[in-house]
Amino acid sequence: MAKWVGSASVMSAAVMGLDVRPVSVEVSLIRGTPLMQIVGLAQSAVREGRERIRAAAAQLGLHVPGLRITVNLAPADLPKTGAALDLPIMLGILCANGDLPQDALDGTLAVGELGLDGSVRSIRGALPIALFAAANPQVARLLLPVANLREASAAEGIAVGGSESLTHILAALNGEARLRGPMTLLSPSVRTTGSRGPDDGGFDLSAVKGQSAAKRALEIAAAGGHNVLLSGCPGAGKTSLARCLPGLLPALEIREAVDVTAIHSVAGLVADGSGLKRARPFRAPHHSISEAGLIGGGTRPRPGEVSLAHHGVLFLDELPEFGRRTLEALRQPIEEGQVRIVRAAGSASFPAEFTLVAAMNPCPCGFLGTPGRCRCLEETVRRYRRRVSGPLLDRIDMLVDVPAVRWEQLAEAASGDTSAVVRARVSKARARAARRHGTINARIPPVRLEEACRVGRGGRSLLRKAVTHLGLTARGYHRALRVARTIADLEGRGRVSEDHVAEAIRFRGPQ
Ligand SMILES: [Zn+2]
Repeated sequence: MAKWVGSASVMSAAVMGLDVRPVSVEVSLIRGTPLMQIVGLAQSAVREGRERIRAAAAQLGLHVPGLRITVNLAPADLPKTGAALDLPIMLGILCANGDLPQDALDGTLAVGELGLDGSVRSIRGALPIALFAAANPQVARLLLPVANLREASAAEGIAVGGSESLTHILAALNGEARLRGPMTLLSPSVRTTGSRGPDDGGFDLSAVKGQSAAKRALEIAAAGGHNVLLSGCPGAGKTSLARCLPGLLPALEIREAVDVTAIHSVAGLVADGSGLKRARPFRAPHHSISEAGLIGGGTRPRPGEVSLAHHGVLFLDELPEFGRRTLEALRQPIEEGQVRIVRAAGSASFPAEFTLVAAMNPCPCGFLGTPGRCRCLEETVRRYRRRVSGPLLDRIDMLVDVPAVRWEQLAEAASGDTSAVVRARVSKARARAARRHGTINARIPPVRLEEACRVGRGGRSLLRKAVTHLGLTARGYHRALRVARTIADLEGRGRVSEDHVAEAIRFRGPQ
């Protein structure tokens, strides 16, 4: 004969893309045939949670013989994946069984995966969940695995507490122990933007010998957020140049660091115990990457490389070797700065404002132009270059030749400005653009472009000629205009001159 034992409800959350939705975990216990049912569109990971919850309960010495446990995850139409609901389900059972006082969980949103040994393990999306909790007036406290505590502490306006053990959490909720509190994210000096140089990953521009044209292009790319294609033989230093770009960009602002960390968090790429990501992302996927890997996808939408590179650099080495469809799919995120993934389980959008640095050899063997070394047929070279389609090339702002370095340049200790010196110029140019139209030049909306880029008479006639002689498309014309605007910004000029336009057009020169 069934006999009601108790019921409880615990607040939790589910992550879909970067969106967080509230989930109510409702537990009811009746005495009867032992059984645990989880209802409410729980996908396999949640159902597997049953086993983890049973094992964790046994570890605690909590035997629940003769109890029929029903767990309802509401709302029912919201897909819930992952193991983050283990902890709230467990707490709900304990509450309904009278092992926890009813008011212990008031105003608490709980997330966490349980280990079979009663440990509380890290979850994905801790920062987005913490931001959601901070914005939700019903939530006064966020309870989560200790491994996610530093990451969640980046959200302001919410009390966070955590532990690595279920026993400890129960003791704390019963008032017999204290949870681990928020963790300091940053030292006060780092909190103020720009007081520390960005993490350049150990690549300094001055360590790259020669290559003044490519260095100039990288400085312009950093200042305006423009896309670059480096073309040159193997060993010329294309990869080293690309790796320098993050160090030419100003340090991430706190707001940007939160965006970058949230994206990495839902992708499961924030290491346990770490906090806000402070370095500009540099992503360099191999050319064998799938379209979903580059753009994003999966039944439970995951960000792709374009989103992991948000506010940073996406480096595509050996561009013609990437799959044709994969490259075509790049066009939309380049234009729109975001990706939308639509799936049966729900849709998700991810931001994708990155600077693209692509690199390619001049021919399949790589040595076209080096006397006596290239044996590629003319037709082979043409076919190789055609793999990078016109529409993609049209979205690249600067085409740069990276010639082999000469012996006398290799002997030099260092050459040109250090990354720190270039970064100072870049920061000034970006600040000028931000004051003028609130964004970097690559992101000026097309309708405001003419107004933002006032070009003198000489520059205008030069642009007209370029459209005719270089066969610039409307998009190509706009891109040249943006680059010229950035060159003027680097010089501190309000008006775009003929010289600025001439340099911008040279970067679109014949490939
Ligand atoms: Zn060749």
